[in-house]
Amino acid sequence: MHPITISDVRLYPVGLPLVERLRTSYGAEPFKSAVIVEVTTTEGAVGWGECPTKMRPSYAYETMGTALHVMREFLVPALIGQRFNSPTEVPKCLAPMRGHPMAKAALEAAVWDAWAKANLIGLAEAFAKHLPEGNEPTGRALVGVSIGIQDSIDATMNIINKRIDQGYGRIKLKIEPGWDVELARAVREQNPDVSLMLDANSAYSLADAEHLKKLDEFHLLMIEQPLGFTDIYEHSKLQPQLRTPVCLDESIHSAGDARLAIAIGACKIINLKPARVGGFTESLEVYKVCAEHEIPLWIGGLLETGVGRAANLAFASLPGVNLPCDISATDRYYQRDLTEPPFVLGPNSTIEVPEGHGIAVDVKRDRVLEAQSYWFANYPYRHELGEKR
Ligand code: MG
Repeated sequence: MHPITISDVRLYPVGLPLVERLRTSYGAEPFKSAVIVEVTTTEGAVGWGECPTKMRPSYAYETMGTALHVMREFLVPALIGQRFNSPTEVPKCLAPMRGHPMAKAALEAAVWDAWAKANLIGLAEAFAKHLPEGNEPTGRALVGVSIGIQDSIDATMNIINKRIDQGYGRIKLKIEPGWDVELARAVREQNPDVSLMLDANSAYSLADAEHLKKLDEFHLLMIEQPLGFTDIYEHSKLQPQLRTPVCLDESIHSAGDARLAIAIGACKIINLKPARVGGFTESLEVYKVCAEHEIPLWIGGLLETGVGRAANLAFASLPGVNLPCDISATDRYYQRDLTEPPFVLGPNSTIEVPEGHGIAVDVKRDRVLEAQSYWFANYPYRHELGEKR
């Protein structure tokens, strides 16, 4: 494989209106935000990555503000001029700067894309080259759809029915205290057979165990991250009390966290968000841990634009990713994405990985710049950074 040398890195903060806002137990943001990363190599390859940070420290502590600061001042200068035989060398290069996994993941993703393009292979194949034999990509990912907290059960039912009609084979509902058992009961009454899971985004505590047990009767695929967003220990006290498998999302920041969670019985399923664990190199390690312990694995989503979604889709096409992923078709998120062609839902609730080199979608530079203008015009917290709106 050919090495690449990083000659330039550009960062584009972007904002995109969402077709449907996603309200979770920690709230909703007015539009989608991200930092799009463009890496150029001395060999002439261009790679793209996405930092899917939110504006507020809600899902994670990183924000658009922290990501831009850490990338501009520390991470990008550490990358420029570096020669990489493989993108798996990027984490070591960025390791002197602690934390900030999403910022690091975005840069690493752009390097993966540039490296795959320089070597004339697709991203899924690039990932498989770093896994044991028998992990050849399947060409498609099994996907589902995530539905935010709505104003009423009727409104939720309408969206569920719309998504089932569109062909989504797995429904995930965001829950919070007061919006859980009755919701699940209503869905099960109308849709007894739909593959259903709930995501609490850390809205409960161990003291709610008796309440959470009431969910067992709805034969859920899983309940995601019921307890604290950094907790593993208390989940190990909750899981044995539930028949419903617990899936950890927010708490898993590394392969080491995955190993710990599995060892102490904190979960039976893992949701992997490559951005949350610091990039695809660490994601490959989480993948290996899950395969070794036969723990089902799926790829979560952070409303990524086509840039981040294409890369996550490539990872989700690896055979060890064996439950439906939160990677939906483009029209579920955006009127017009940053990339072409749009992702469409195929048969059996799958999305095909586009053929080509790297992320294999065309990043529309004019749309990136337009989304950057939207960001500067609409960022709502500017006064808190000391600038007048
Ligand atoms: Mg989640």
